[in-house]
Amino acid sequence: MRFEDLNLSAKTLKSVSDLGYEEPTEVQAKAIPKIISGTNLIVRSQTGTGKTAAFGIGLIERIAAGTTSKALVLVPTRELALQVCEELRRLGLPHGLNVRAAFGGQKLEFQIRDLQRSYDILVATPGRLLDLCERGTVYLSKFNAVVLDEADHMLDIGFRWDVFKILDGLPPERLTLLFSATVDTEIREIASMYLPDSELIEVGEMRTVSSIKEERIDVPHAQKVAKLLETIKLHPGVKTLIFARTRRGVMRLKRRLEEENIPHIGMLHGDMEQPKRTRMIHRFKTDEIRVLVATNVAARGLHIDDVGLIINYDEAEDMRTHLHRAGRTGRMGAEGKVITFVSDDAPPPRQYGGQRRGQSYGSGSYSHGSGRSRSYGGHGGSWHGPGGSHGSRHSDSGSHGSGHGGSYGSGSSESSGQESPGYGGSGHRRGGRRHSRPKKPAWHRGHHRQR
Ligand code: AMP
Repeated sequence: MRFEDLNLSAKTLKSVSDLGYEEPTEVQAKAIPKIISGTNLIVRSQTGTGKTAAFGIGLIERIAAGTTSKALVLVPTRELALQVCEELRRLGLPHGLNVRAAFGGQKLEFQIRDLQRSYDILVATPGRLLDLCERGTVYLSKFNAVVLDEADHMLDIGFRWDVFKILDGLPPERLTLLFSATVDTEIREIASMYLPDSELIEVGEMRTVSSIKEERIDVPHAQKVAKLLETIKLHPGVKTLIFARTRRGVMRLKRRLEEENIPHIGMLHGDMEQPKRTRMIHRFKTDEIRVLVATNVAARGLHIDDVGLIINYDEAEDMRTHLHRAGRTGRMGAEGKVITFVSDDAPPPRQYGGQRRGQSYGSGSYSHGSGRSRSYGGHGGSWHGPGGSHGSRHSDSGSHGSGHGGSYGSGSSESSGQESPGYGGSGHRRGGRRHSRPKKPAWHRGHHRQR
């Protein structure tokens, strides 16, 4: 399939060729014609599959044809807002389209001024968008197309009610596109409420079965730093992303690595101001930084195509987070490796109402013994969600999937110093007060997500 086969305008064909995209990815080939024809879609696809350009090209073609006048793209994090905005700008350039972004962490006055000018597409985090609506800067009634990008993540990090409020404020006659790495009961129920007559598109991952190798290594807690140094030195020149659980842990590790003269080190965590974070991501992208130590703030949505090695210095707190961390490597079919340190003697994290260390992946069907490596091929894996017995390192039953249906928590807690990916906006708490929540729909009952 070629982009020419998708009946795109000459201007869009020019922008995809300027971006160096030679042929449409699977999600693009499947979704773009449906978006152009105005079909509501639920699309199951991971980051790294080309989903941004899929909805981007679809929306841009509709705006250029006049079938959509203004489009809204909701994203969970400010990083994703910036990246999506940048890609849409580049795609919309030959059409002269204006794409703007609104997210927390940036001066509100600046965004208000920016949004007083005209635009065709707004990329926003839910909390900030509602702030702007309350101030009369943005009118939801003006949008007749909406994309929920990384919808599962948006629900996980507490934007559920904000998203409902926004969807309720949009005109009923609109195009709605929902993109999510997982399509579980919750997503389906939202779809039944907000996406009438929608079609489901399911997309395999770009990465091939052999493109990501996973290795879990038993390391006594006291030897983790030494093991980390050894691992980095064993992979010279490989762009490496190291995940630690807490901001303090990230700062400590970075210092230790600097003391050991590991060159080109950077760090990323939620306490850093947005411009600093953006700069750090840019330096990592452009190879000025080769080793980035980060909290889960880097686990989602970062489009850096040549990360060759992920080291989980601290294990992820749940399977979904693990998959998102792993998804930072092996992008667009490239080779990648994920190494996870497992320390049975690790001191327990400060209580945050969650699972105990080492139990967090649940029933133990995804991982395997130390030192051995294995590939995974994406979806349909055999992880059973939390609550199962643990001891996961000693089983080896094949591929793990995208985390399905489990009511696992996001493992986020400010008080414990842990952090969820740095979503923009002020979440469901705005202006220092919690806004009253609508009555919980039936599907919510029984879901006890830890926050
Ligand atoms: P996404 O799934 O939106 O996170 O996209 C992942 C990466 O794929 C981004 O860096 C895009 O620039 C890139 N990309 C998107 N579409 C294509 C394509 N058709 N060919 C090559 N790269 C692409």
